[in-house]
Amino acid sequence: MNAVKTTCPYCGVGCGVLAAPRKDGGADISGDPQHPSNFGKLCVKGSALGETLGDHGRLLYPQMHGERVGWDAALDHVAQGFRKIIDEHGPDAVALYVSGQLLTEDYYVANKLMKGYVGTANIDTNSRLCMSSAVAGHKRAFGEDLVPISYEDLELADLVVLVGSNTAWCHPILFQRIVKAKEQRPEMKIVVLDPRRTATCELADLHLPLRAGTDVTLFNGLLTYLHQHGVVDTKFVDGHTTDVERTLAIADNTAGDLRSVARACRIEPSVLGEFYRMFARTEKAITAFSMGVNQSGAGTDKVNSIINCHLLTGRIGKPGMGPFSITGQPNAMGGREVGGLANMLAAHMELANPTHREIVQEFWKSPAIVAKQGLKAVDLFNAIDEGKVKAVWIMATNPVVSLPDADKVKSALSKCELVVVSDIIEKTDTAAYAHVLLPAAGWGEKDGTVTNSDRRISRQRAFLPLPGEAKPDWWIIGEVAKRMGYAEGFNFSGAHEVFDEHARLSAYRNEGSRCFDINGLSGLDRQGFDAMDPIQWPVLADAKGTPRLFENGRYFHADGKARFIPTPPRGPAHATDAEFPLVLNTGRIRDQWHTMTRTGRSPKLASHIPEPFVDMHPHDALMSGVRDGELVRVATRWGALVARLKTTPEQGRGAVFVPIHWNNQFASDARVGALVNPAVDPVSGEPEFKHTPVRVEAFGVA
Ligand code: SF4
Repeated sequence: MNAVKTTCPYCGVGCGVLAAPRKDGGADISGDPQHPSNFGKLCVKGSALGETLGDHGRLLYPQMHGERVGWDAALDHVAQGFRKIIDEHGPDAVALYVSGQLLTEDYYVANKLMKGYVGTANIDTNSRLCMSSAVAGHKRAFGEDLVPISYEDLELADLVVLVGSNTAWCHPILFQRIVKAKEQRPEMKIVVLDPRRTATCELADLHLPLRAGTDVTLFNGLLTYLHQHGVVDTKFVDGHTTDVERTLAIADNTAGDLRSVARACRIEPSVLGEFYRMFARTEKAITAFSMGVNQSGAGTDKVNSIINCHLLTGRIGKPGMGPFSITGQPNAMGGREVGGLANMLAAHMELANPTHREIVQEFWKSPAIVAKQGLKAVDLFNAIDEGKVKAVWIMATNPVVSLPDADKVKSALSKCELVVVSDIIEKTDTAAYAHVLLPAAGWGEKDGTVTNSDRRISRQRAFLPLPGEAKPDWWIIGEVAKRMGYAEGFNFSGAHEVFDEHARLSAYRNEGSRCFDINGLSGLDRQGFDAMDPIQWPVLADAKGTPRLFENGRYFHADGKARFIPTPPRGPAHATDAEFPLVLNTGRIRDQWHTMTRTGRSPKLASHIPEPFVDMHPHDALMSGVRDGELVRVATRWGALVARLKTTPEQGRGAVFVPIHWNNQFASDARVGALVNPAVDPVSGEPEFKHTPVRVEAFGVA
């Protein structure tokens, strides 16, 4: 069999992969030279994909209460269990918790079932933990959740500002593209804003180790600086935006002069001044941001404080400039397209908009269409804990490890009347709480699409047989829907039919707005879908794709203008104190992915960093009475874990870093989610993963 073109299932860069199946059941993996995201390159995780294939550890058969059963019995049980609870307690007593690992087609069917048939918007996703602040910030500023630029723009920029993003480790191929662009044009400048000195800083002309949580103050200061120094595109601001005066007044009042901003952010004034001058004089500037911005109780304001600076200077909608959200997961963007969040309908339509509801219901010909927002991730598991949600179906994610206050998630699931888990892996921390386990098809075994950080839709293609009795997620959801009495809406013969329905629905979007339209991809049969090349939405009738948005200066608020959003700084929900004097920051390492259910199987990847660790500044270690290399106990008000201490001056003082990956399957009691406070951004619902007060002490201290 020739190599099959598919897409990497890990980060939001969305690299093209060539997979050549071998006779022994494995596959030889290489980068796809024709894919416009990576042009043949793969990072170490993508290169090791072949090591993660095979049946070892796989969930191969449906199970009920730990016993193998047939598909019919399992599907009937799930459908009847959901039906009974809906009949007795109403549709809001059931919920789906899905994942940015799902394909767009899986997301589409899950969203259709809940919002159009069951009649609840209780479907949320682990993408809530990843990019929902960027979504909310885009909507406030642009009127729609739109990413303005392409990866090519990063290569055209003269200044790339990376905020809260260890791009070198978390989005390695995108980082390599920036490295190459800088090699070719050494005058290109890179600035990194991050409390830690990460691997990304090796490329930086300037690193601003700002105090955790002070991003809004820093960008309000930049806005004020730009205004005071006349770096304003008056024609753009007057013609294409509103609310500039109010926003400038609040920025000026809350940020103050450069020295007071530097003091608040704990940065040398000379370094801050250099960054402000660099930004002011460089027209082709991109501000790319990721989890350090999004995962915050003020994440949406942080996003808007960045966008405000681009609106003031008119640096958007032109080559080499704009704000840019780098998404964490392979299909966080695809989930947004089909409404896989508790506050959206399909095709980015709004639950609160009666016209949108009517469009979607008529298109689906569905019995119900929900009008009320559902529960976002953290609230959803709180509602399970309180007994308000009595049945939950978790797909392709591991919330007992990954959600904040993760011990509460355990407690919630242990009380829940019906817990269904669809996964590729049999034993995960979450699967341990399932009454029903459903074996899902994994990467290389199923067909569909994903959309990466720059709106590029790419095909994931099957090149391996389905192991055991595993099935694609869209099929599993559809079969449960049919058994609940909704046969007419779920008769899909393949992923191509789901994609076609999604593409056709996108054309109905928004009177006068074609911003999400992919109708140019509708009408594909199985062969056409198989042959689909990567393409950036919107895709109109000419099927050419759209690399850059807002080139015509038109935004998607009713008046066609973008909004400046005032962003008064707010501190984190929980401040440090004498008992918990440091700040816990969490994040990814280079060679692992999420809760390690796949990357944990690769010896090559494990050799990079083999065990969980705590990074701490040597001064803080001295003050805490702990030493480099010893096991320490890391405790917050919500939980504790034990890991090995690494002291390093690259970790800023006053904070510690613990990776998110390890869990009970790989190391005893190493779930950092159990330590993270449950505060969320009030607009986006995204949790505060970067700021929990913490204490570090020698292991064994009571
Ligand atoms: Fe996969 Fe991301 Fe690495 Fe590309 S950069 S190979 S998408 S993990």
